[in-house]
Amino acid sequence: MNKPEQQPPEIADFYWMLQMLQTVDVGLVILERDYRIKLWNGFMENHSGITNKHLIDKEIFSVFPNLPRTWIERKVESVFKLGSPAYSTWEQRPHLFPFKSYRPLTGHSERMYQNITFMPLLDPSRKVSQVCLLVYDVTESVTNKLQLEDANIQLEKLSRTDRLTGLNNRGFWEECLQQEFRRSKRASELGKVESSLIIFDIDHFKPVNDTHGHLAGDQVIKAVAQCLKETARDTDFAGRYGGEEFVLLLPDTGVEGAFEVAERLRTKIQSLVVQHEDLELSVTVSLGICDFTTDLDSFNLWLERADQALYHSKHQGRNQSSVWSKELES
Ligand code: GH3
Ligand code: MG
Ligand code: MG
Repeated sequence: MNKPEQQPPEIADFYWMLQMLQTVDVGLVILERDYRIKLWNGFMENHSGITNKHLIDKEIFSVFPNLPRTWIERKVESVFKLGSPAYSTWEQRPHLFPFKSYRPLTGHSERMYQNITFMPLLDPSRKVSQVCLLVYDVTESVTNKLQLEDANIQLEKLSRTDRLTGLNNRGFWEECLQQEFRRSKRASELGKVESSLIIFDIDHFKPVNDTHGHLAGDQVIKAVAQCLKETARDTDFAGRYGGEEFVLLLPDTGVEGAFEVAERLRTKIQSLVVQHEDLELSVTVSLGICDFTTDLDSFNLWLERADQALYHSKHQGRNQSSVWSKELES
């Protein structure tokens, strides 16, 4: 039997190092000064489907023409010049090599997220002779981070949304009103400000519940909310203030404009026919309008005045819109 051939110790070292470079779970690409590829390790082979053998001594941009050449050159040149590493995180550039991710997540990139380090490699005279690109697959941690961000966005949305109607809930809507009040106060020091508030309440709603049940009542509330959503502009803030009370904040809208919106809402709701089982239900609403004026010293007072106008509409016979005036103060 032949004796196994003894390798000189340096060659043996070279072999185990080469095996490590091949199997390590990080992409390694070594580039010469003229961008020829000197190493394309196992990680890069597995993800690109191209073997080291096919790439060796080829200029990287000639085999991968879609790589961001100027960007890579800027990084690599700085490494050659300064002799210190350069970095790129997935936040700056999600990936350099467009490898497929094994953990695609719906709604997110199907590509592998990569952090890249550009390492200087020194020759025996301590001059930078090559640059090594280390390609780290950070898809898992990025995916977790993005999922968490998505969940937080959903949670925040839920915490400010009314479950039944999908409108802004009272807490969030009041925050919007407070902000708009502060904005109007500040702006009014510089000139005329127009901003209005509408509050409305379904007329004789209790009998709807009492006669047809709570579920029928809920259907009516949902249909009224839908009308409100359709009437509001993107810049308005619509909300469900209480059980069957709704609010609409209209920035950059004077009292005449707000009255028109209120009447449009009123007539739209009046002509609604809500289907519930074999019932057809119709309701009307009473509305109160109050525009921003400089004598308002709190957002609560603004709301209170709109409410006084609403109760005026109720007392005047319901199914109507009223604008607040000093005479309505109780
Ligand atoms: P008015 O014309 O004076 O406003 O009379 P109303 O009967 O509408 O007024 P009231 O405030 O007495 O009644 C409101 C009713 O709304 C009482 C409550 O049962 C009902 N309600 C409040 N929230 C909900 C809800 O989420 N779903 C249903 N179905 N009913 C609700
Ligand atoms: Mg009410
Ligand atoms: Mg009511």
